[in-house]
Amino acid sequence: MDLSSPSTNPTYSSPAITSPTTTTTAITTLATTTSPSSTPSRYENQKRRDWNTFCQYLRNHRPPLSLPMCSGAHVLEFLRYLDQFGKTKVHNQTCPFFGLPNPPAPCPCPLRQAWGSLDALIGRLRAAYEEHGGRPEGNPFGAKAVRIYLREVRDFQAKARGVSYEKKRKRPKPRVTATPQSAPAPAESSAG
Ligand SMILES: [Zn+2]
Repeated sequence: MDLSSPSTNPTYSSPAITSPTTTTTAITTLATTTSPSSTPSRYENQKRRDWNTFCQYLRNHRPPLSLPMCSGAHVLEFLRYLDQFGKTKVHNQTCPFFGLPNPPAPCPCPLRQAWGSLDALIGRLRAAYEEHGGRPEGNPFGAKAVRIYLREVRDFQAKARGVSYEKKRKRPKPRVTATPQSAPAPAESSAG
């Protein structure tokens, strides 16, 4: 047997390592040009957590509560329940530090949820309620009692903590829809 000896195999300069070509993964994000500062995913996560918290509250409620049974009064109950987890010192009117933004000494006044936290929470829950099939007209987070309660909390905390919660806008215009008018129309209001 004559074993055919392997002939001189030509050495190929083969590129063994396949260099990773620049694969550009085209991630087409939705146009979020309107709000570049706020990250929507973080808001969504917070909203989901808030919704879970509220649903858990309903499950633990005595007597038991289901979502369709939920009214504005129950939302107020929920907000007061959350106060025990608050971290904002809100002075009683009898406290000597009532109205002081930076009290010089500790006092036995309770810790509460800050108005800004509650206001944002209600906004998220209101949206979540409708995302979970709730009807807008029956939305307990949009109930008048809830709005009144939030306003009262804001006003009282502003007084108690000596902090102004006034926003930049002065005229309360609740329903600002996108007006198709392009002209600015600098009309100076002479008479209200
Ligand atoms: Zn106090």
